[in-house]
Amino acid sequence: MTLTNIAPTAELQALDAAHHMHPFTANAALGAKGARIITRASGVRLTDSDGAELIDGMAGLWCVNIGYGREELAEAAARQMRELPYYNTFFQTSHVPALTLAARLAELAPGDLNHVFFAGSGSEANDTNIRMVRQYWALKGQPERRTIIARRNGYHGSTMGGGSLGGMAAMHAQGGLPIPGIVHIDQPYWWGEGGDMTPEAFGLARARQLEEKILELGVENVAAFIAEPVQGAGGVIIPPDSYWPEIQRIVDKYGILLIADEVITGFGRLGHWFGSQSYDIRPHIMTIAKGLSSGYQPIGGSIVCDEVAHTIAQDEFNHGYTYSGHPVAAAVALENLRIMEEEGIVARVQSETAPYLAKAWASLADHPLVGEAVSRGMMASLALTPDKASRARFASDPGTVGFVAREYSFGNNLVMRHVGDRLIIAPPLVITPDDIDALISRARKTLDQTH
Ligand code: PLP
Repeated sequence: MTLTNIAPTAELQALDAAHHMHPFTANAALGAKGARIITRASGVRLTDSDGAELIDGMAGLWCVNIGYGREELAEAAARQMRELPYYNTFFQTSHVPALTLAARLAELAPGDLNHVFFAGSGSEANDTNIRMVRQYWALKGQPERRTIIARRNGYHGSTMGGGSLGGMAAMHAQGGLPIPGIVHIDQPYWWGEGGDMTPEAFGLARARQLEEKILELGVENVAAFIAEPVQGAGGVIIPPDSYWPEIQRIVDKYGILLIADEVITGFGRLGHWFGSQSYDIRPHIMTIAKGLSSGYQPIGGSIVCDEVAHTIAQDEFNHGYTYSGHPVAAAVALENLRIMEEEGIVARVQSETAPYLAKAWASLADHPLVGEAVSRGMMASLALTPDKASRARFASDPGTVGFVAREYSFGNNLVMRHVGDRLIIAPPLVITPDDIDALISRARKTLDQTH
C-alpha cells in the first residue's frame, strides 16, 4: 500500500509543504496552493493524485526522451542491482556497465570525442569541465589560461560551478555566484534583444562578442567557451543560423576549448544524437545527462576529445564523484540507448516527429498574444507579447497583464513551462502526431485563457 492510495491529496500536500523543500520554488507559497502531486506515468501522460491525466509537454525536466513506463529499463535496473548494485571507478577499478557505456558513447559521439568522465548529473559534469579545462591548460604549461566565457541567460546547472557558468541573474543574486574566473557575454536572442537588426546580422554580432571578450581578457588567459547549442532553460532560444559558424570560426582562430552543453540537446532532441551535429560544430567536450538515461536514473558526464583526454591522462586528475559511472545508472543508460537505436527514435524525430511538431506549433503564431512560435527538433517556444508588430516585452512584474512566472503551467491538462515571457515545451521524443495535435489544441486553450 502506498501513501498515494491511503491519503487524500490535501493531506499529501500538507505533508509536502511542511517538510519538503522544493528546488526553484518559493516554498512558503506551497502551503496555500499545494504542489501538484504526480503519482504515475505512461508514454507521454502523467497521472496526478486526483486521477487527472496530463500530457507531459516537458518530458519531465527535458529528460524522459523515450517516454514513461518502459519495462525494459526497470528490468535493466533490477538485473544490475542484483548483480552489482554499486562499485566505484576510483583508484584503478572499473566495472562492466561503466566501461561499456563509455565505449558506446564514444561510438555515438562525433569526431574524436572518445573518452567519458561520468558524473551524477549535468551540474556535476559541468563542475568537472571547469576543473578539466583548467587542468588541461596547466598540463600544457599555460596555467594562467583559467577564464571560462559563458553566456547570460545560459543554464549549466545549480552547483557553485554550474550555477556560475550559467548566466541566470536570479541565481547569481543568491549564495555567492558566480565563482571567480567565469565571465559572460550576451545571448543570441533575436526576438527579445535584436532590435532593428536582421536575425543574421544580430547572430553575427552576438557571436563576435566572444572575440571581443577574448581580446579584452587576453587570449593567453582564456581556457574555454561554454554554451548550449539551443538554450533550454533560458526559454528555448534558437540562435540565428549565422551564430554557430561564427562561434566556431572564433574558437578555431584563438585556439580556445569549446564545451557544448548537450544536457538537453543530446540524445535526439534536435534530430541528431547530439545538437552539435545539428549545428555542425566541433566541441572539445560535450556535457551530457538527462536523455542519456531518459531520466530513469540520475547520470551525467563529459564526453572528451582525444587531445584533452590524453593530456589529462598524464597526471592524476584529483576529481570524481562516489556515483561516477554508477553501475545501475549506467546499465539503465545502456538499455535506453539500445531502445533508442533499435526503434530508430533519433531518425524518426528528424524525418517525422520534429517536422510535424514544427508545423503544428507554428500554427499558434496567429494567436494575438504570440510574438513568435519557433521550434528546433523537439524543443519549441512562444514569445508572449502585448504587441506583435513592435516585438514589445511584457513587464516582468507579478500582477502585470500577461506576466508569466518561471513555473509549470498545468492548464487544460497540459504541462508546459513558463520562462519569463516565453512559454516552452520539449515533449518526449516518442510523442505521436495525435498527441501533438492534442498538445497544440490544449496550448491554444491555455493561451485563450491568459489575460
Ligand atoms: N546544463 C543544461 C543545459 C541543463 O539544461 C541542465 C538542467 O536543466 C543542466 C546543465 C544541469 O543538469 P542537472 O539538473 O542534471 O544538474
